[in-house]
Amino acid sequence: MGFNSDTIAAISTANGAGGIGVIRISGNDSFKIADRIFRSISGKKLSDMKGYTAAYGSVYDKENTKLDKAIATVFRKPHSYTGEDVVEISCHGGMYITKQVLRAVINSGASPAKAGEFTQRAFLNGKMDLSEAEAVMDIISAKGKTEARAALACMDGQISREIFRINDILVNCAAHLSAWADYPEEDIPEVNSDNLRNDLVSVKNMIEALLKNYDAGMVIKKGIDTIIAGKPNVGKSTLMNRLAGYEKSIVTDIPGTTRDIIEETVILGDVTLNLSDTAGLRDTDNLVEKIGVEKARQKLKTSGLVLAVFDSTQELDSEDLNLISVIKDCPSVAIVNKTDGENKLDIQYLNSQITNVVSISAKNGDGIETLIKSIEKITGTADFDPSVATLANERQRDCAVKALEAVNDAISAIDMGFTLDAATVSIEDAVQNILEITGERASEVVVHKVFSRFCVGK
Ligand code: GDP
Repeated sequence: MGFNSDTIAAISTANGAGGIGVIRISGNDSFKIADRIFRSISGKKLSDMKGYTAAYGSVYDKENTKLDKAIATVFRKPHSYTGEDVVEISCHGGMYITKQVLRAVINSGASPAKAGEFTQRAFLNGKMDLSEAEAVMDIISAKGKTEARAALACMDGQISREIFRINDILVNCAAHLSAWADYPEEDIPEVNSDNLRNDLVSVKNMIEALLKNYDAGMVIKKGIDTIIAGKPNVGKSTLMNRLAGYEKSIVTDIPGTTRDIIEETVILGDVTLNLSDTAGLRDTDNLVEKIGVEKARQKLKTSGLVLAVFDSTQELDSEDLNLISVIKDCPSVAIVNKTDGENKLDIQYLNSQITNVVSISAKNGDGIETLIKSIEKITGTADFDPSVATLANERQRDCAVKALEAVNDAISAIDMGFTLDAATVSIEDAVQNILEITGERASEVVVHKVFSRFCVGK
């Protein structure tokens, strides 16, 4: 990895106008460099200040021109984000000022920080492990409450502690096996394959729980691909607009005007839906609309959730029955729309065919809350507990899947009566994969890949 002892600097706040902007400096020469450009009102040098203290003053460039008033906060190693000496200069936000201050810092001897370099240093200095570093990125990009809480739990070491527990059991199994194999003459009790198997099964359950929570977490993080289906004029566009909170598709009285699939991301409570508004499932000889219908059928089969809309002011017709038969086997909600009008729809029949039926008025908003609750239930997000350890991304999931395979191999080896050596090899393989999640056994390539996803200033 090549630890770099250079002092680095970057603008750590978002690029744009803001109340304050923060320029972060980290490394052995942080105080010396900051003292060259910052003069405190009290006359005290940053080098002489204690950690966790701040000074008010002004920032100057190398021509001694005053750039801005600012507050400099001092963090002394190892009690800082990176584990190094850190100075954070908070000046006025705004692209021009923050860039001027950064330039002054760089002219005084700091190097521009690379993408994710502050967090990478924190990782290299043992301030956080790889899964916690990834959580930093997740919390910065969190779009909703549950997502933020899950990232925070990760950052607080939830996943690391669970990985530690899993690893502990595996290492114990491996240690016991190898002690017994390596020192047969010693008085080590013979490995009881029942106990070993029990331990491995408990590890298997722990990893499976992590993977299951990951899937629910993914729905929260990335959203679930959702289709709004139904014949023309039942109110799909009106519903989509209500969910999205603004007008996007054309709402009209003429059947078949929603020609193409329109995509929209909406955040409902804790669930993010990637919505598609589609043409109805009607057999039609209008070519343009036919393309829409076929796309709709294809998408229904592969989508994560179908919101099937029916018009309560009309009796169910063959198109509706067609849709009911298609959605029966997918995760779906049957939405009975237009409850503000006179009911003609056989809701009992619908209830007998579809598990989740919700009545709404897309026009006036009645029943939308119930619809959202129903969606949360179906997608599993209602049961998702963000405070429980959750894998954060595909990288971590991939490691967990490989570890699970290895644990399953070890269990099979025992069940099939192979030598315990075979189990040992698989257990070691599992340990390798589990520790890649926290970065304890991650290769340089993996670490580089993780930090290259960050942007400068983090
Ligand atoms: P789509 O073809 O399925 O997308 O249907 P639209 O959203 O374009 O709606 C068709 C017609 O039904 C429009 O005139 C809407 O104003 C009307 N509509 C939609 N939802 C409701 C509702 O909840 N109540 C009533 N009364 N009319 C609705």
